[in-house]
Amino acid sequence: MNYKELKRKYGTPLYIYDVNKIKDIISAYKNNFQSGKFETEIIYASKAFNIKEMLRLIKNEGLSLDVVSLGELYTATKIGFPMERIYFHGNNKTEEELRFAIEYNVGIFVIDNLSELRKLSILSKELQKKSSIYIRLNVGVEAHTHKYIVTSHIDSKFGVLYGSEEYKQMLQLIETCEQIELKGLHCHIGSQIFELNPYDIVIEKLTTIVQDFPYPLSINLGGGFGAFYTQADHVIPYERVAKHLIQRMEEELEKKKLRIQKLSIEPGRSIVGEAGRTLYTLGSTKQTPNRLYYFVDGGMTDNIRPALYQAIYAADVVGKEKEIKNKMVTIAGKCCESGDILVENILLPEAQEGDLLVTYSTGAYGYAMSSNYNKACTPAVVFVEDGQDKLVVRRQSMEELIEREI
Ligand SMILES: *Cc1c(COP(=O)(O)O)cnc(C)c1O
Repeated sequence: MNYKELKRKYGTPLYIYDVNKIKDIISAYKNNFQSGKFETEIIYASKAFNIKEMLRLIKNEGLSLDVVSLGELYTATKIGFPMERIYFHGNNKTEEELRFAIEYNVGIFVIDNLSELRKLSILSKELQKKSSIYIRLNVGVEAHTHKYIVTSHIDSKFGVLYGSEEYKQMLQLIETCEQIELKGLHCHIGSQIFELNPYDIVIEKLTTIVQDFPYPLSINLGGGFGAFYTQADHVIPYERVAKHLIQRMEEELEKKKLRIQKLSIEPGRSIVGEAGRTLYTLGSTKQTPNRLYYFVDGGMTDNIRPALYQAIYAADVVGKEKEIKNKMVTIAGKCCESGDILVENILLPEAQEGDLLVTYSTGAYGYAMSSNYNKACTPAVVFVEDGQDKLVVRRQSMEELIEREI
């Protein structure tokens, strides 16, 4: 990748995506997540990185789309994403969001709790539309990564506990409401998971639960498949993940003499994470008694994950990748927060003001979680495919930064 040329054209900080890499990963999922026993579907969890060009790519690759807000859904409508391939998630969909989604004929509502189901049923009646739903279940499986990322303990804000009073009331409501059709069950057990065992347990549990129903439901296993950030991450190849889930599901159905309609997965991070990197320009450096700081022209405004939950990234000084890395460095941003650190204690070569610095695997939850803190303008995003770069998000201008201020 010609970083200097990209800096000259687009400036820094800059988000750069390797489109070939994204397509390779999608192919790995698509080619291996197939079964002769049931339909299969791969749904991109767009909260990881939801911009128009990314959604066009997902549309063209034939994947389905998971959205969690009106904004994500609106973006999808703007590029003509097929609505029947959209799953609408979230633990607190507002009336406005539900109304918009019903009117736009969103394919599936993944319903998180009873009060949301009530809202959907009332609105579907009012708008005289049928709404297809999955129930998001909390089956009590936790996948241990970082505690902030775990979502499925019994007091989780996500999903309804199987067998609880709330769950029973949801089933009753579904039975009596003509506008609501239950199509399947959903479960998402966490993120950045590097084992397959938790998914095996989920498959066992969900195939037991679908037996409660008189007709074949679909099962959505969620996402969370671990992605590569640094050498410490032992990624299970996505081919293997996909094959394994299919095989486990087929075995379980065989054992229980069961049929399901469709099996889906919802990867987000693993599709875009490794394909993204962020380019910075090095400004000042500073030696304190115990630390050598490299200060860059971005920070928590373009990548909040290290500050938010101590996420770890690898980095290089551009053009010095092969030089001896003999400086223990902390890469810090320019925001007024002591926690505004991008990489803590990383070995890098000696670098000077004006050098370019790149952090790797920033494609997921980087741009998506960016902010205007300290009134930083959101960086541009560039897609690179077969050596050709293409601007897909313009850098935010000062004028745009204040355009809504009255
Ligand atoms: C976040 C999320 C995903 C994707 O998780 P990744 O770790 O990005 O793969 C999938 N499904 C649901 C419901 C989610 O909330």
